[in-house]
Amino acid sequence: LASSLLANYCTELHDDQALKVDKYLHHLQLSDETLMDLSIRFRREMDKGLCRDTNPTAAVKMLPTFVRSTPDGTEQGEFLSLDLGGSNFRVLLVKVMADGKQKVEMENQIYAIPEHLMRGNGSELFDHIADCLSNFLEKMGIKEKKLPLGFTFSFPCQQTKLDESVLMSWTKGFKSSGVEGKDVVSLLRKSIKKRGDFDIDIVAVVNDTVGTMMTCGYEDHHCEIGLIVGTGTNACYMEQMRNLDVLDGDEGRMCVNTEWGAFGDDGALEDLRTDIDREIDAGSLNPGKQLFEKMISGMYLGELVRLIMVRMAKEQLLFQGKTTKELLTTGSFNTRYIYTIDNDKDEEGLTSAEEVLRGMGLDPSVEDCITTQRVCQIVSTRAAHLCAASLAAVLRQIRDNKAAEKLRTTIGVDGSVYKNHQEFSRRLNKMVRRLVPDCDVRFLQSQDGSGKGAAMVTAVAYRLAAQHAE
Ligand code: BGC
Ligand code: MG
Repeated sequence: LASSLLANYCTELHDDQALKVDKYLHHLQLSDETLMDLSIRFRREMDKGLCRDTNPTAAVKMLPTFVRSTPDGTEQGEFLSLDLGGSNFRVLLVKVMADGKQKVEMENQIYAIPEHLMRGNGSELFDHIADCLSNFLEKMGIKEKKLPLGFTFSFPCQQTKLDESVLMSWTKGFKSSGVEGKDVVSLLRKSIKKRGDFDIDIVAVVNDTVGTMMTCGYEDHHCEIGLIVGTGTNACYMEQMRNLDVLDGDEGRMCVNTEWGAFGDDGALEDLRTDIDREIDAGSLNPGKQLFEKMISGMYLGELVRLIMVRMAKEQLLFQGKTTKELLTTGSFNTRYIYTIDNDKDEEGLTSAEEVLRGMGLDPSVEDCITTQRVCQIVSTRAAHLCAASLAAVLRQIRDNKAAEKLRTTIGVDGSVYKNHQEFSRRLNKMVRRLVPDCDVRFLQSQDGSGKGAAMVTAVAYRLAAQHAE
Protein backbone atom coordinates (compact mmCIF):
# COMPACT_ATOMS: atom_id res chain seq x y z
CA LEU A 1 0.00 0.00 0.00
CA ALA A 2 2.83 2.41 0.82
CA SER A 3 3.74 2.94 -2.80
CA SER A 4 0.16 3.02 -4.02
CA LEU A 5 -0.48 5.50 -1.29
CA LEU A 6 2.10 7.81 -2.76
CA ALA A 7 1.03 7.09 -6.32
CA ASN A 8 -2.62 7.60 -5.53
CA TYR A 9 -1.95 10.51 -3.35
CA CYS A 10 -4.05 13.18 -4.83
CA THR A 11 -5.18 16.38 -3.23
CA GLU A 12 -8.70 16.04 -4.49
CA LEU A 13 -9.29 12.67 -2.85
CA HIS A 14 -7.56 13.99 0.23
CA ASP A 15 -9.59 17.17 0.53
CA ASP A 16 -12.80 15.33 -0.17
CA GLN A 17 -12.13 12.75 2.51
CA ALA A 18 -10.92 15.32 5.04
CA LEU A 19 -14.09 17.33 4.49
CA LYS A 20 -16.24 14.32 5.38
CA VAL A 21 -14.35 13.90 8.64
CA ASP A 22 -14.64 17.63 9.33
CA LYS A 23 -18.40 17.39 9.00
CA TYR A 24 -18.55 14.35 11.24
CA LEU A 25 -16.39 16.01 13.90
CA HIS A 26 -17.65 19.59 13.55
CA HIS A 27 -18.31 19.83 17.30
CA LEU A 28 -14.60 19.32 17.98
CA GLN A 29 -13.63 22.34 15.89
CA LEU A 30 -13.81 25.53 17.86
CA SER A 31 -14.12 28.93 16.20
CA ASP A 32 -12.00 31.91 17.22
CA GLU A 33 -15.13 33.40 18.71
CA THR A 34 -15.77 30.35 20.90
CA LEU A 35 -12.14 30.35 22.01
CA MET A 36 -12.27 34.03 22.89
CA ASP A 37 -15.44 33.41 24.91
CA LEU A 38 -13.76 30.47 26.63
CA SER A 39 -10.77 32.64 27.45
CA ILE A 40 -13.02 35.23 29.10
CA ARG A 41 -14.76 32.48 31.05
CA PHE A 42 -11.43 31.12 32.24
CA ARG A 43 -10.36 34.59 33.39
CA ARG A 44 -13.50 34.69 35.57
CA GLU A 45 -12.62 31.26 36.97
CA MET A 46 -9.20 32.64 37.92
CA ASP A 47 -10.85 35.51 39.80
CA LYS A 48 -13.13 33.08 41.55
CA GLY A 49 -10.14 31.04 42.72
CA LEU A 50 -8.19 34.11 43.86
CA CYS A 51 -10.97 35.56 46.03
CA ARG A 52 -11.25 34.39 49.60
CA ASP A 53 -15.07 34.17 49.54
CA THR A 54 -15.44 32.29 46.28
CA ASN A 55 -12.32 30.12 46.53
CA PRO A 56 -13.96 27.27 48.50
CA THR A 57 -16.37 26.55 45.63
CA ALA A 58 -14.02 27.41 42.76
CA ALA A 59 -13.10 24.60 40.35
CA VAL A 60 -9.84 26.31 39.38
CA LYS A 61 -8.01 26.48 42.69
CA MET A 62 -5.30 29.12 42.06
CA LEU A 63 -2.98 27.70 44.71
CA PRO A 64 -0.33 29.83 46.46
CA THR A 65 3.13 28.29 46.00
CA PHE A 66 5.19 30.43 48.41
CA VAL A 67 7.65 31.03 45.61
CA ARG A 68 8.07 34.81 45.67
CA SER A 69 11.00 35.39 43.46
CA THR A 70 12.47 34.02 40.25
CA PRO A 71 16.24 33.40 39.96
CA ASP A 72 18.52 36.42 39.59
CA GLY A 73 21.59 34.47 38.54
CA THR A 74 23.54 34.85 41.80
CA GLU A 75 22.32 31.56 43.23
CA GLN A 76 24.87 28.91 44.08
CA GLY A 77 25.38 25.60 45.83
CA GLU A 78 24.76 21.88 45.52
CA PHE A 79 21.18 20.65 45.60
CA LEU A 80 19.22 17.43 45.28
CA SER A 81 15.92 17.19 43.58
CA LEU A 82 13.15 14.68 43.03
CA ASP A 83 10.67 14.83 40.17
CA LEU A 84 7.48 12.80 40.52
CA GLY A 85 4.31 13.01 38.50
CA GLY A 86 5.27 13.19 34.83
CA SER A 87 6.11 10.33 32.52
CA ASN A 88 9.27 9.54 34.53
CA PHE A 89 10.41 9.60 38.12
CA ARG A 90 13.84 11.23 38.37
CA VAL A 91 16.42 11.96 41.03
CA LEU A 92 18.86 14.78 40.32
CA LEU A 93 22.00 16.34 41.73
CA VAL A 94 22.25 19.96 40.62
CA LYS A 95 25.33 22.16 41.06
CA VAL A 96 24.65 25.84 40.60
CA MET A 97 27.71 28.03 40.13
CA ALA A 98 27.79 31.79 40.34
CA ASP A 99 31.40 32.45 39.42
CA GLY A 100 30.67 35.42 37.18
CA LYS A 101 29.06 33.33 34.46
CA GLN A 102 25.92 31.40 35.33
CA LYS A 103 26.52 27.69 35.10
CA VAL A 104 24.57 24.63 36.13
CA GLU A 105 25.84 21.06 36.18
CA MET A 106 23.51 18.10 36.64
CA GLU A 107 23.60 14.39 37.23
CA ASN A 108 20.36 12.53 37.04
CA GLN A 109 18.87 9.09 37.13
CA ILE A 110 15.48 7.84 36.01
CA TYR A 111 13.79 5.22 38.17
CA ALA A 112 10.71 3.17 37.38
CA ILE A 113 7.60 3.45 39.50
CA PRO A 114 5.83 0.13 39.12
CA GLU A 115 2.10 0.38 38.51
CA HIS A 116 1.22 -1.41 41.74
CA LEU A 117 2.91 1.47 43.59
CA MET A 118 1.20 4.20 41.56
CA ARG A 119 -2.15 2.80 42.51
CA GLY A 120 -1.38 0.85 45.67
CA ASN A 121 -0.41 1.68 49.20
CA GLY A 122 0.81 5.26 49.77
CA SER A 123 3.48 4.49 52.37
CA GLU A 124 4.98 1.88 50.03
CA LEU A 125 5.14 4.54 47.33
CA PHE A 126 7.11 6.89 49.60
CA ASP A 127 9.34 4.02 50.81
CA HIS A 128 10.14 3.35 47.17
CA ILE A 129 11.02 7.01 46.57
CA ALA A 130 13.34 6.98 49.61
CA ASP A 131 14.85 3.76 48.30
CA CYS A 132 15.63 5.35 44.90
CA LEU A 133 17.10 8.41 46.63
CA SER A 134 19.35 6.19 48.74
CA ASN A 135 20.49 4.32 45.64
CA PHE A 136 21.28 7.62 43.89
CA LEU A 137 23.26 9.05 46.83
CA GLU A 138 25.23 5.82 47.01
CA LYS A 139 26.06 5.96 43.30
CA MET A 140 27.14 9.61 43.52
CA GLY A 141 29.17 8.89 46.66
CA ILE A 142 27.41 11.62 48.65
CA LYS A 143 25.52 9.60 51.22
CA GLU A 144 27.32 11.31 54.09
CA LYS A 145 26.43 14.83 52.98
CA LYS A 146 23.22 16.36 54.24
CA LEU A 147 22.17 18.25 51.11
CA PRO A 148 19.15 20.51 50.65
CA LEU A 149 16.44 18.95 48.49
CA GLY A 150 13.65 20.33 46.31
CA PHE A 151 10.74 18.04 45.52
CA THR A 152 8.83 18.50 42.27
CA PHE A 153 5.49 16.91 43.01
CA SER A 154 3.15 17.47 40.07
CA PHE A 155 -0.27 17.25 41.65
CA PRO A 156 -2.66 19.79 43.19
CA CYS A 157 -1.44 20.62 46.69
CA GLN A 158 -2.48 23.05 49.37
CA GLN A 159 0.68 24.74 50.64
CA THR A 160 1.05 26.80 53.80
CA LYS A 161 4.80 27.26 53.39
CA LEU A 162 7.50 26.20 50.97
CA ASP A 163 8.14 22.89 52.72
CA GLU A 164 4.62 21.81 53.57
CA SER A 165 2.33 20.55 50.85
CA VAL A 166 -0.91 18.69 51.39
CA LEU A 167 -2.09 16.59 48.45
CA MET A 168 -5.66 17.57 47.53
CA SER A 169 -6.30 14.79 45.03
CA TRP A 170 -4.29 12.51 42.77
CA THR A 171 -4.55 13.09 39.02
CA LYS A 172 -3.23 11.40 35.85
CA GLY A 173 -2.18 7.77 36.45
CA PHE A 174 -1.73 7.98 40.24
CA LYS A 175 -4.16 6.77 42.83
CA SER A 176 -2.29 5.45 45.83
CA SER A 177 -4.11 5.16 49.11
CA GLY A 178 -3.64 7.22 52.25
CA VAL A 179 -1.88 10.21 50.69
CA GLU A 180 -4.74 12.58 49.86
CA GLY A 181 -5.15 15.08 52.68
CA LYS A 182 -1.60 14.45 53.93
CA ASP A 183 1.59 16.53 53.79
CA VAL A 184 3.90 14.82 51.30
CA VAL A 185 7.01 16.28 52.98
CA SER A 186 6.14 14.50 56.24
CA LEU A 187 5.48 11.27 54.36
CA LEU A 188 8.86 11.48 52.64
CA ARG A 189 10.69 12.42 55.86
CA LYS A 190 9.08 9.46 57.61
CA SER A 191 10.19 7.02 54.91
CA ILE A 192 13.75 8.40 55.01
CA LYS A 193 13.94 8.29 58.79
CA LYS A 194 12.70 4.70 58.85
CA ARG A 195 15.67 3.65 56.69
CA GLY A 196 18.21 5.57 58.75
CA ASP A 197 20.99 5.28 56.16
CA PHE A 198 21.06 8.95 55.06
CA ASP A 199 19.74 12.36 55.97
CA ILE A 200 18.58 15.25 53.83
CA ASP A 201 17.08 18.70 54.29
CA ILE A 202 13.77 18.97 52.41
CA VAL A 203 13.52 22.70 51.67
CA ALA A 204 10.80 23.05 49.06
CA VAL A 205 7.94 21.27 47.32
CA VAL A 206 7.04 22.68 43.92
CA ASN A 207 4.60 21.88 41.17
CA ASP A 208 6.19 20.99 37.79
CA THR A 209 4.81 24.20 36.26
CA VAL A 210 6.68 26.17 38.94
CA GLY A 211 9.82 24.12 38.37
CA THR A 212 9.60 24.86 34.66
CA MET A 213 9.09 28.59 35.20
CA MET A 214 12.12 28.66 37.51
CA THR A 215 14.33 26.66 35.14
CA CYS A 216 13.48 28.97 32.26
CA GLY A 217 13.65 31.99 34.56
CA TYR A 218 17.30 31.29 35.28
CA GLU A 219 17.99 31.78 31.57
CA ASP A 220 15.44 34.50 30.76
CA HIS A 221 14.59 36.92 33.56
CA HIS A 222 11.34 37.90 31.77
CA CYS A 223 9.94 34.41 32.40
CA GLU A 224 6.86 34.69 34.64
CA ILE A 225 4.66 31.84 33.38
CA GLY A 226 5.25 28.09 33.52
CA LEU A 227 3.25 25.79 31.22
CA ILE A 228 3.07 22.00 31.07
CA VAL A 229 1.43 20.00 28.30
CA GLY A 230 2.52 16.45 28.95
CA THR A 231 0.82 13.55 30.66
CA GLY A 232 -1.30 16.25 32.32
CA THR A 233 -1.67 19.96 31.71
CA ASN A 234 -1.38 23.02 33.95
CA ALA A 235 0.11 26.51 34.24
CA CYS A 236 1.46 28.84 36.91
CA TYR A 237 2.34 32.54 36.80
CA MET A 238 3.61 35.37 38.99
CA GLU A 239 0.61 37.10 40.60
CA GLN A 240 0.48 40.31 42.63
CA MET A 241 0.13 39.60 46.34
CA ARG A 242 -2.65 42.19 46.52
CA ASN A 243 -4.74 40.03 44.17
CA LEU A 244 -4.02 36.88 46.16
CA ASP A 245 -6.89 37.44 48.53
CA VAL A 246 -6.54 34.03 50.17
CA LEU A 247 -3.23 35.15 51.73
CA ASP A 248 -2.54 38.15 53.91
CA GLY A 249 -0.04 40.71 52.72
CA ASP A 250 -0.11 43.05 49.73
CA GLU A 251 3.56 43.48 48.96
CA GLY A 252 5.34 41.95 46.00
CA ARG A 253 4.44 38.91 43.97
CA MET A 254 3.93 35.19 44.45
CA CYS A 255 3.73 32.37 41.97
CA VAL A 256 0.21 30.91 41.72
CA ASN A 257 -0.37 27.36 40.54
CA THR A 258 -3.65 27.67 38.61
CA GLU A 259 -4.43 23.90 38.40
CA TRP A 260 -6.32 24.69 35.22
CA GLY A 261 -6.82 21.01 34.47
CA ALA A 262 -9.84 21.17 36.80
CA PHE A 263 -11.55 23.87 34.69
CA GLY A 264 -15.07 22.59 34.03
CA ASP A 265 -15.29 20.27 37.04
CA ASP A 266 -18.27 22.38 38.21
CA GLY A 267 -20.09 22.04 34.88
CA ALA A 268 -18.66 25.19 33.26
CA LEU A 269 -17.56 23.36 30.10
CA GLU A 270 -20.66 21.28 29.39
CA ASP A 271 -21.46 23.20 26.20
CA LEU A 272 -18.07 22.27 24.75
CA ARG A 273 -17.72 18.71 25.97
CA THR A 274 -18.79 15.94 23.61
CA ASP A 275 -19.93 12.32 23.99
CA ILE A 276 -16.33 11.26 23.43
CA ASP A 277 -15.15 13.48 26.28
CA ARG A 278 -17.79 11.95 28.54
CA GLU A 279 -16.71 8.46 27.53
CA ILE A 280 -13.04 9.25 28.33
CA ASP A 281 -14.02 10.65 31.70
CA ALA A 282 -16.23 7.70 32.60
CA GLY A 283 -13.37 5.26 31.91
CA SER A 284 -10.74 7.28 33.82
CA LEU A 285 -9.24 6.81 37.30
CA ASN A 286 -10.85 10.09 38.46
CA PRO A 287 -14.34 10.47 36.92
CA GLY A 288 -15.79 13.98 37.10
CA LYS A 289 -12.35 15.49 37.79
CA GLN A 290 -9.78 17.26 35.59
CA LEU A 291 -12.28 17.66 32.76
CA PHE A 292 -10.28 20.36 30.92
CA GLU A 293 -7.11 18.26 31.23
CA LYS A 294 -8.92 15.29 29.71
CA MET A 295 -9.53 17.32 26.52
CA ILE A 296 -5.89 18.40 26.24
CA SER A 297 -3.15 16.27 27.74
CA GLY A 298 -1.09 13.36 26.49
CA MET A 299 -2.65 10.84 28.82
CA TYR A 300 -5.95 11.18 26.93
CA LEU A 301 -5.28 12.37 23.34
CA GLY A 302 -4.53 8.94 21.88
CA GLU A 303 -7.55 7.43 23.57
CA LEU A 304 -9.77 10.22 22.23
CA VAL A 305 -8.59 9.37 18.72
CA ARG A 306 -9.17 5.66 19.27
CA LEU A 307 -12.72 6.15 20.58
CA ILE A 308 -13.58 8.30 17.57
CA MET A 309 -12.18 5.68 15.19
CA VAL A 310 -14.18 2.92 16.85
CA ARG A 311 -17.35 4.98 16.44
CA MET A 312 -16.59 5.76 12.83
CA ALA A 313 -15.91 2.09 12.08
CA LYS A 314 -19.19 1.11 13.67
CA GLU A 315 -20.94 3.66 11.49
CA GLN A 316 -19.23 2.24 8.37
CA LEU A 317 -17.13 5.39 7.95
CA LEU A 318 -13.82 3.58 8.47
CA PHE A 319 -12.29 0.19 7.61
CA GLN A 320 -15.50 -0.82 5.81
CA GLY A 321 -17.06 -1.28 9.18
CA LYS A 322 -14.43 -3.72 10.45
CA THR A 323 -12.79 -3.49 13.84
CA THR A 324 -10.00 -5.57 15.40
CA LYS A 325 -9.32 -6.66 18.94
CA GLU A 326 -6.45 -4.14 19.16
CA LEU A 327 -8.59 -1.26 17.95
CA LEU A 328 -11.17 -2.15 20.58
CA THR A 329 -8.56 -2.27 23.38
CA THR A 330 -8.34 0.72 25.75
CA GLY A 331 -5.05 2.56 25.39
CA SER A 332 -3.97 0.76 22.21
CA PHE A 333 -3.68 4.01 20.25
CA ASN A 334 -0.68 5.64 21.90
CA THR A 335 -0.63 9.46 21.96
CA ARG A 336 2.83 9.22 20.37
CA TYR A 337 1.22 7.95 17.15
CA ILE A 338 -0.48 11.32 16.76
CA TYR A 339 2.90 13.07 16.68
CA THR A 340 3.96 11.26 13.51
CA ILE A 341 0.56 10.94 11.82
CA ASP A 342 -0.34 14.60 12.31
CA ASN A 343 2.62 15.73 10.23
CA ASP A 344 2.43 18.72 7.95
CA LYS A 345 4.13 16.73 5.23
CA ASP A 346 1.02 14.75 4.36
CA GLU A 347 2.73 11.81 2.66
CA GLU A 348 4.90 11.10 5.67
CA GLY A 349 1.94 11.39 8.01
CA LEU A 350 -0.13 9.06 5.84
CA THR A 351 2.64 6.49 5.66
CA SER A 352 2.86 6.44 9.42
CA ALA A 353 -0.94 6.22 9.70
CA GLU A 354 -0.77 3.12 7.53
CA GLU A 355 1.99 1.62 9.68
CA VAL A 356 0.10 2.26 12.90
CA LEU A 357 -3.18 0.88 11.56
CA ARG A 358 -1.46 -2.25 10.23
CA GLY A 359 0.13 -2.70 13.62
CA MET A 360 -3.40 -2.78 15.01
CA GLY A 361 -4.31 -5.64 12.69
CA LEU A 362 -6.25 -3.45 10.25
CA ASP A 363 -6.01 -3.40 6.48
CA PRO A 364 -6.49 0.29 5.71
CA SER A 365 -7.38 1.84 2.36
CA VAL A 366 -5.94 5.20 1.31
CA GLU A 367 -9.19 6.81 2.47
CA ASP A 368 -8.86 5.14 5.89
CA CYS A 369 -5.37 6.58 6.28
CA ILE A 370 -6.56 10.06 5.30
CA THR A 371 -9.48 9.81 7.74
CA THR A 372 -7.22 8.68 10.56
CA GLN A 373 -4.84 11.53 9.90
CA ARG A 374 -7.68 14.03 9.91
CA VAL A 375 -9.04 12.68 13.20
CA CYS A 376 -5.57 13.07 14.76
CA GLN A 377 -5.35 16.63 13.43
CA ILE A 378 -8.75 17.64 14.75
CA VAL A 379 -8.21 16.15 18.21
CA SER A 380 -4.79 17.70 18.67
CA THR A 381 -5.81 21.05 17.20
CA ARG A 382 -8.68 21.27 19.66
CA ALA A 383 -6.26 20.51 22.51
CA ALA A 384 -3.81 23.21 21.37
CA HIS A 385 -6.59 25.76 20.95
CA LEU A 386 -8.19 25.08 24.35
CA CYS A 387 -4.78 25.51 25.89
CA ALA A 388 -4.29 28.77 23.99
CA ALA A 389 -7.60 30.09 25.35
CA SER A 390 -6.64 29.58 29.01
CA LEU A 391 -3.11 30.82 28.40
CA ALA A 392 -4.49 33.98 26.81
CA ALA A 393 -6.48 34.63 30.00
CA VAL A 394 -3.32 34.32 32.11
CA LEU A 395 -1.51 36.72 29.78
CA ARG A 396 -4.30 39.28 30.04
CA GLN A 397 -4.25 39.00 33.81
CA ILE A 398 -0.50 39.73 33.91
CA ARG A 399 -0.87 42.58 31.42
CA ASP A 400 -3.65 44.19 33.48
CA ASN A 401 -1.62 43.75 36.68
CA LYS A 402 1.19 45.74 35.12
CA ALA A 403 -1.25 48.21 33.57
CA ALA A 404 0.83 47.75 30.46
CA GLU A 405 -0.55 48.45 27.02
CA LYS A 406 1.72 45.95 25.45
CA LEU A 407 3.06 43.07 27.53
CA ARG A 408 6.40 41.53 26.72
CA THR A 409 6.80 38.24 28.53
CA THR A 410 8.24 34.73 28.42
CA ILE A 411 6.47 31.43 28.98
CA GLY A 412 8.61 28.52 30.12
CA VAL A 413 7.20 25.30 28.63
CA ASP A 414 7.71 21.61 29.21
CA GLY A 415 5.87 18.34 28.69
CA SER A 416 5.93 15.51 26.18
CA VAL A 417 3.10 16.79 23.98
CA TYR A 418 4.54 20.28 23.58
CA LYS A 419 8.06 18.97 23.03
CA ASN A 420 7.39 16.07 20.70
CA HIS A 421 4.44 17.24 18.66
CA GLN A 422 5.59 20.07 16.43
CA GLU A 423 2.16 20.85 15.05
CA PHE A 424 0.77 21.15 18.57
CA SER A 425 3.27 23.81 19.64
CA ARG A 426 2.93 25.65 16.34
CA ARG A 427 -0.88 25.81 16.63
CA LEU A 428 -0.74 26.79 20.30
CA ASN A 429 1.73 29.62 19.67
CA LYS A 430 -0.25 30.86 16.68
CA MET A 431 -3.61 30.86 18.48
CA VAL A 432 -2.18 32.63 21.54
CA ARG A 433 -0.94 35.41 19.27
CA ARG A 434 -4.40 35.62 17.68
CA LEU A 435 -6.22 35.77 21.01
CA VAL A 436 -3.88 38.33 22.60
CA PRO A 437 -2.39 40.31 19.73
CA ASP A 438 -1.22 43.00 22.16
CA CYS A 439 1.18 40.64 23.94
CA ASP A 440 4.67 39.96 22.75
CA VAL A 441 5.15 36.38 23.94
CA ARG A 442 8.25 34.24 23.86
CA PHE A 443 7.79 30.49 24.33
CA LEU A 444 10.94 29.10 25.88
CA GLN A 445 11.21 25.33 25.94
CA SER A 446 12.75 24.04 29.14
CA GLN A 447 15.80 21.93 28.37
CA ASP A 448 16.34 20.17 31.65
CA GLY A 449 12.86 19.51 32.91
CA SER A 450 11.03 20.47 36.02
CA GLY A 451 13.42 18.66 38.37
CA LYS A 452 16.13 21.27 37.85
CA GLY A 453 13.51 23.90 38.71
CA ALA A 454 12.96 22.42 42.16
CA ALA A 455 16.68 22.80 42.74
CA MET A 456 16.44 26.41 41.53
CA VAL A 457 13.61 27.12 43.99
CA THR A 458 15.76 25.64 46.73
CA ALA A 459 18.74 27.70 45.55
CA VAL A 460 16.68 30.91 45.57
CA ALA A 461 15.38 30.08 49.07
CA TYR A 462 18.98 29.64 50.20
CA ARG A 463 20.07 32.92 48.60
CA LEU A 464 17.19 34.80 50.26
CA ALA A 465 17.91 33.18 53.64
CA ALA A 466 21.58 34.20 53.33
CA GLN A 467 20.60 37.78 52.44
CA HIS A 468 18.30 38.00 55.43
CA ALA A 469 21.04 36.73 57.70
CA GLU A 470 23.41 39.50 56.53
C1 BGC B 1 -1.73 18.13 37.92
C2 BGC B 1 -0.88 19.38 37.97
C3 BGC B 1 0.33 19.21 37.07
C4 BGC B 1 -0.10 18.81 35.68
C5 BGC B 1 1.09 18.61 34.73
C6 BGC B 1 -2.05 17.76 36.48
O1 BGC B 1 -2.72 16.55 36.44
O2 BGC B 1 -2.93 18.33 38.62
O3 BGC B 1 -0.46 19.64 39.29
O4 BGC B 1 1.03 20.42 37.02
O5 BGC B 1 -0.85 17.63 35.74
O6 BGC B 1 1.93 17.61 35.19
MG1 MG C 1 7.55 16.68 34.39
